Amino acid sequence: MNDERRPTTADPSTSLRASPRVPHESRNLSSAIETPNRVRRAMKSNASAPSPIRRVWLERFARLALIAAIGAVFGALWFAVTGTPRPAQVIALAPAPLQTLIPTLIPIPTSTPTPTPTPLPPLVGLVAGHSGGEDPGANCPDGLREVDVTTDVARRAKTLLEARGYRVDILAEFDPRFSATKRDYAPNVLLAIHADSCVYYASGYKVARASNSASPQEEDRLVRCVSSSYAAASQLPFHEGSITTAMTLYHNLMKIDPKSPAAIIELGFLGSDRATLVNKREQLALGIANGVERFLQGSGCQ
Ligand SMILES: [Zn+2]
Repeated sequence: MNDERRPTTADPSTSLRASPRVPHESRNLSSAIETPNRVRRAMKSNASAPSPIRRVWLERFARLALIAAIGAVFGALWFAVTGTPRPAQVIALAPAPLQTLIPTLIPIPTSTPTPTPTPLPPLVGLVAGHSGGEDPGANCPDGLREVDVTTDVARRAKTLLEARGYRVDILAEFDPRFSATKRDYAPNVLLAIHADSCVYYASGYKVARASNSASPQEEDRLVRCVSSSYAAASQLPFHEGSITTAMTLYHNLMKIDPKSPAAIIELGFLGSDRATLVNKREQLALGIANGVERFLQGSGCQ
């Protein structure tokens, strides 16, 4: 027998030739088993790889980041050299592509508007004639006193003016706020309130300013405003020809800031005008408040 033509499965060479098939099949088998993992890995690596479009954007982003870094370095240098720059300077320093980008990325602080302080309402000084001292002013036989009339009318006028938003000081005849040397009391308007003597041969009211007024036109306007409003409210006549130096040189007109417009009013005569001075004080106060307000509002009061 020719052993070479009749190979047997026991032939070691046949076994040797056949043997490589096993690992090959085995490889194929293992390959078949491993394929899903490989696919998964491949899919994974494909997913993480940037697509061409994404790559372009990434490159653009990287370029922008580089430009921004360069801009930041320039900005830092500028800070170091010149101190805090204005936003406009930062933008001007930045590379051209960033000049339009910076305002959208960085909130540019706008200059905070300085809050304008709310102005105080005008201050009105009302002198309650003869108040705060020993002298009650004019004194009637039946006990009606000038100081009682002036004090009550001043208080009522204060209430009316405050209700309209003004600040009001009631001042005594020799109020410590008055000072002939300092002259630092500076209301927007000062009106001294007095009343005339207890006589029956004269009737009416009077209004006057200081004869040495620092602003005669302005104080004449104040006189007109108070006079016309008071006449309308009190229905008293203007008493012509009896404005004396007791009014035009009234001491308190010389003890306030010369720039403060001031005047003095005699409400009427305690004798002839008694009924009005006793019973119509609210009307008298209204006339004063209206006159002062018209003056403060800038009326010409012609
Ligand atoms: Zn008086």
